[in-house]
Amino acid sequence: MEKQHPAYGVHQPTWPDATCGTCGEEWPCEPAVGALVAEHGTGLLLSAALWRTFDELARMLPGRSFSELRWRCFGQPLAHVADRLEEPLSCNHWSEVTA
Ligand SMILES: [Zn+2]
Repeated sequence: MEKQHPAYGVHQPTWPDATCGTCGEEWPCEPAVGALVAEHGTGLLLSAALWRTFDELARMLPGRSFSELRWRCFGQPLAHVADRLEEPLSCNHWSEVTA
């Protein structure tokens, strides 16, 4: 049975290739990230949620490289988040996970 992620709204991953079941983009897709930000804000709770995403993708997609997964779970979502904010992300913990 597939695990559901309420925080991602209707944009849920489909396996085995981790694409979005709603829009067909690579998951987490931009609407999924938007739903996550709406649920968790842009601070530590979002960071924790993205780490859970990373952990899940790393387990479900064992052949993918670390750098690809890191971009998918942190780089790309944070770029979406930065687009939505008027000020740049400035929390120290973001530089730690994206460095
Ligand atoms: Zn989607």
